Amino acid sequence: MPRELTTEELDKLIEFSIKAKDKAYCPYSNFRVGAALFDENGNWHTGANIENASYGGAICAERTVFIKAISEGQRKFVALGVSTDTREFARPCGICRQFMIEFEDNLPIYLVQPDHSYHKVILKDLLPDSFGPAILKADRVTENTT
Ligand SMILES: [Zn+2]
Repeated sequence: MPRELTTEELDKLIEFSIKAKDKAYCPYSNFRVGAALFDENGNWHTGANIENASYGGAICAERTVFIKAISEGQRKFVALGVSTDTREFARPCGICRQFMIEFEDNLPIYLVQPDHSYHKVILKDLLPDSFGPAILKADRVTENTT
């Protein structure tokens, strides 16, 4: 279970996620998303959505920021901030929920609007009964014979 953010950390999470939106590459959807991820070692990571002319090649801000942090050796995370330009709180897509739950099912996610207002959700509440690393370690009734 990740620890609670301090007020100062929460302010940074919100600010960094809003700023990260400026780096979005989204010429097709024109839907900017910024993400800020705070890890247990006290490091901040930011990411934005990156689209592609081959639409299926697009990567959401949430996966961008996780890939950046994980590829630099981080594995434990305290909180994620996700910012969009909408007046509604945009939740992570299904692919990102699955991607992130690999690392922390109790991850607090702060959904952020341009006016800095936020709504906190917990990742496992967005993806209940998920498929995760534990099932791959479960006892098997049959063996793979190929
Ligand atoms: Zn996504």
